[in-house]
Amino acid sequence: MKNLIVGCGISGVTLARLLAESGEQVVIIDSKDHIAGNIYDYYEDGICVHKYGTHIFHTNNKTVWDFVSRFCKWHPYQHKVKGLIDGQIVPIPFNLNTLHAVFPTSMANKIEEKLLENFGLNVKVPILELRKKDDKDLQFLAQYIYEKVFLEYTLKQWGQTPDEIDPSVSGRVPVYISRDDRYFQDKYQGIPIGGYTAMVKNILKHKNITVKLKTPFDNNMEYNRLFWSGSIDEFFNYEYGALPYRSERFDFITYPYDKFQDVAVVNYPCNYDWTRIGEYKHFLNDKSDKTIVSYEYPEAFQEGKNERYYPIANDKNAELYQKYIKLAENKPNVYFFGRLGDYKYYDMDKAIARCFEIIKGLKS
Ligand code: UDP
Repeated sequence: MKNLIVGCGISGVTLARLLAESGEQVVIIDSKDHIAGNIYDYYEDGICVHKYGTHIFHTNNKTVWDFVSRFCKWHPYQHKVKGLIDGQIVPIPFNLNTLHAVFPTSMANKIEEKLLENFGLNVKVPILELRKKDDKDLQFLAQYIYEKVFLEYTLKQWGQTPDEIDPSVSGRVPVYISRDDRYFQDKYQGIPIGGYTAMVKNILKHKNITVKLKTPFDNNMEYNRLFWSGSIDEFFNYEYGALPYRSERFDFITYPYDKFQDVAVVNYPCNYDWTRIGEYKHFLNDKSDKTIVSYEYPEAFQEGKNERYYPIANDKNAELYQKYIKLAENKPNVYFFGRLGDYKYYDMDKAIARCFEIIKGLKS
């Protein structure tokens, strides 16, 4: 069986490994000159820099965690994000600590009581849900968070308001009625020691896997089964038009001093044109007398100009995607997967779990 995998990102390499371990021969190609897709990182000035923006591994799925843990040792990093709100650097997602940081004590106490009464402790409430409450204090709070945390950030990120985009997107960062300042509460979280590229290299280290970089797919390539982690519209030559994506531009700056900010990521919802600044040495506690940061500017994806980062979930795009899925039904030996192949906003763990599903499907 000739298995051809297109794309060396986390999805492609996971699938390559799973196939290889079941005794199959695999060729995996990528048009880029490096492995690891958008989780690619590299060392500069002793700091592990994520070329395509900050990536934090987190999952509740033990099978996924056990799988990746075979290929790296973990630095037990717990992600904390802060945001500049009303001139203060406060915890994001908005939580009880944020509440007490931005409001006078008596006001914060009153709102905290209302939140606990209505929802309870350690409960996550998407902002769009909080806005539906008809209590006037909760209304006030919801409007404050909507305006100060979500509205302008989302306009920069998506070119649309939180009400216009799919609710699952702002729901990724729910208001958290808790004193827990972490961005994720997953059981397993961390950064691979040595970086993601080193981890991916280990995933690909198998006698049944052949890696070919700087190798775009072409129709003359031979295969019995093709696994396509590129964008599904590209496979079908954009027959019904292009599926839209958001992209990012990262401006990297090296500063000649130890630390730029307290945490790895600081969001700027209401100020500047960037959405956030990432400082890379925080992830692995890298020691350097310099520091490297990236200023993140969202932009529309344009073929040939930048990379695809985020599928844009809405009814119109779902309809277009379904048209391509219909075409895919006529190609039983082609499998679409990954963020681009499935046109889904997967986190890394979900992308890996999806590969387990594909392998199960092949066996049944
Ligand atoms: N978001 C926001 N303000 C923030 C953080 C997030 O408005 O301070 C919204 C925004 O629409 C963003 C979405 O929540 O695109 C998901 O955020 P997440 O941090 O999960 O995005 P990612 O890290 O995947 O880019």
